[in-house]
Amino acid sequence: MKFDDYRISPKIKAELKKLGFNKPTDIQFKAIQPILNGEDVLAIAQTGTGKTAAFVIPILEQLDSKLRKKKVEGISCLVLVPTRELAIQILDVFKTIGKDLNVVCSSIHGGVEQDPQIKQLNKGVDILVATPGRMFDLVSQGHLDMKKLEFLVLDEADHMLDLGFIKDIQDLLKHIPKKRQTLFFSATITKKIKTLAYSLVQNAIRIQISPNNPVAKNIDHAVAFIEMDDKRFFLENVLKEYPESKFVVFVRTKIRAERVMAAMKRVEVSTEFLHGGVEQKERFEILDRFRKGENKVLVTTDVAARGIDIPDVDYVINYDLPDVPENYVHRVGRTGRGNKRGQALAFCSEEEKLFLTEIEEYTGEDIEHYDIPKGEYFDIIADSEDASHNWKKLIREDNDFNGTEEEW
Ligand code: ADP
Ligand code: MG
Repeated sequence: MKFDDYRISPKIKAELKKLGFNKPTDIQFKAIQPILNGEDVLAIAQTGTGKTAAFVIPILEQLDSKLRKKKVEGISCLVLVPTRELAIQILDVFKTIGKDLNVVCSSIHGGVEQDPQIKQLNKGVDILVATPGRMFDLVSQGHLDMKKLEFLVLDEADHMLDLGFIKDIQDLLKHIPKKRQTLFFSATITKKIKTLAYSLVQNAIRIQISPNNPVAKNIDHAVAFIEMDDKRFFLENVLKEYPESKFVVFVRTKIRAERVMAAMKRVEVSTEFLHGGVEQKERFEILDRFRKGENKVLVTTDVAARGIDIPDVDYVINYDLPDVPENYVHRVGRTGRGNKRGQALAFCSEEEKLFLTEIEEYTGEDIEHYDIPKGEYFDIIADSEDASHNWKKLIREDNDFNGTEEEW
């Protein structure tokens, strides 16, 4: 089946063609028609499989004013996402595919002034992509009219229904019509969250693709055992070996992101870091530079783990293992988007082995273990251009230093 065969607006088809989308991906094939039919959907499909267009296409089709007798007052579709970067990205997909339709799309998120967002809302918005925090601020100030809402979409649904957000979502339900279409999209979901999701919908159609292994099959991923203090040498080694490649390097904390960048700077590898503590304008710019390839190595926290779609990321490095197992799936999913192949490598220290076991239990597979021969391990450290590390190491041993990376 091709997009040409769908009974959707020729204007949507034309934009899909421009994007190079000829035929639907599996998840699009399974989700678009039920959504057009008015069903509630819970869709689970691996990272990079085109979940965004799977809801964007049928929603735009149904909200296209050509099909409607008259313009609806207030917001017709609300898409909730966990991060500001994702809000912008998804808005962009709506705007691109809906370019020639009479549908107004906008986004609201924190970290920027709210007045321009309020102005936009007052002019009238059909489709709103939002992060929960800012959305609730604006709801409580009376700026969001959702009395006529027809579509509620939760992208990264498992995360949106998890602890941090669930109360917000439940509150939201009080502000929107009971009769609506509810759509959940995610690459990962637990039993508990699935039950919760079902409690929020009428008779959801459940669409699950590749249920056994949540890691997309076009991603080769492996783990290497590297001690905490040595990780920076191995990162230097990999980055210098592939200077033309694009890397996303995940670390556990904001401070570690900054330290990794500083360590790479010392050995003349240029990187940028992105984390929740960076001012919002700068966050967008950093991601933009990475997208354009002006910076090839992005060091980041889990703020960039979910949803971010940069089609040509060659490698994901899990410099630290995530302590939440499903984040492993999302992190490695930043590579191998669409039809591309991707590679991911995790650095696992002695103290992180427990996380590795949890991740392997979660993904249901043993991740390929890459054993670095001892000689090679020490060669990589010795080859580092970090002039400071040798004397630091000596001092550390002298002091019987029992911390980990805190020195650097
Ligand atoms: P997911 O949300 O499942 O992780 P995305 O919606 O971000 O995936 O899409 C991943 C990539 O696949 C994007 O770069 C998108 O442009 C591309 N894509 C989506 N649908 C198609 C299609 N039908 N044909 C070709 N590429 C597609
Ligand atoms: Mg997505």
